[in-house]
Amino acid sequence: MANNIKELLGQPNSEYPFGPDWYEITEVALGTTAIREPHHFEDVFSFTKATANGGLVLFDTGMGLANIKDILPMPPVRTLLTHSHWDHIGGAGLFKNISILDNEYETSRLRAGWRKDETVGYDEEAFLVKVPSSYDLNQFNIPGIESFETFKDGDAINIDGLHVVVIHTPGHTPGSVCFFLPQSGELITGDTLYPGPEYLHLAESSVNDYLQSLYRLRSELGNKITAILPGHNQPLAEPDLLNRHIAAFEGSLTPTEIVEGVDEFGPYEQRKFAGFSLMLPK
Ligand SMILES: [Zn+2]
Repeated sequence: MANNIKELLGQPNSEYPFGPDWYEITEVALGTTAIREPHHFEDVFSFTKATANGGLVLFDTGMGLANIKDILPMPPVRTLLTHSHWDHIGGAGLFKNISILDNEYETSRLRAGWRKDETVGYDEEAFLVKVPSSYDLNQFNIPGIESFETFKDGDAINIDGLHVVVIHTPGHTPGSVCFFLPQSGELITGDTLYPGPEYLHLAESSVNDYLQSLYRLRSELGNKITAILPGHNQPLAEPDLLNRHIAAFEGSLTPTEIVEGVDEFGPYEQRKFAGFSLMLPK
């Protein structure tokens, strides 16, 4: 089993299965840091951006399997969430000034948190390292949080000189957003765009909304996007990933393979393309 491959170091806080070496931190551009969780099959990414005044903005908070606050050089002045799935709000309870889209699905999920049995990904076989035997994974849960703020589609937020534009991109979830940073052209996409399997067969997903969101990103941002900072698999993706997703839907990109199957979320048809795939409901 993959679980025997590697054992991570320290586990300084027994609240968490893992210590700080759960994360891998890389500076992907000046003032932009990617926080990767490489020891789990989901390969989640959160990001920080430096503000003009030397502060830090955190985008998403990871899976909650270690204390993400411990690895930040300072507490973030603000934490913005792309959506409320477990693999992005795991550390949300650690921060003040946390915000999510004003959307019923996202806010109620953030309030409720996630019990282990409501999620996928916290079973032992999902890990690429050994889970310390001293930690009982069955006890794992992501606590809900009561105190947070909301933003709206189109909000242009100025955080100590860092400009962030909120673009509501429903599809993967009803209240998913992308954050566009006009000063650098970076687009933080969460699970709306990433170089991997795009999950659109979830109960809360909508394929139609998703395609409209892609069109909207193209028409509103187009060639202003210099880099995509995605929620999974790679810290940076080419802006062309957006056009290639659209081409996959329009049929001008031909799948390399189509696979049908059933997973925890239900029956799907997976259309595979070079570098990404679409998980469509069946
Ligand atoms: Zn995700």
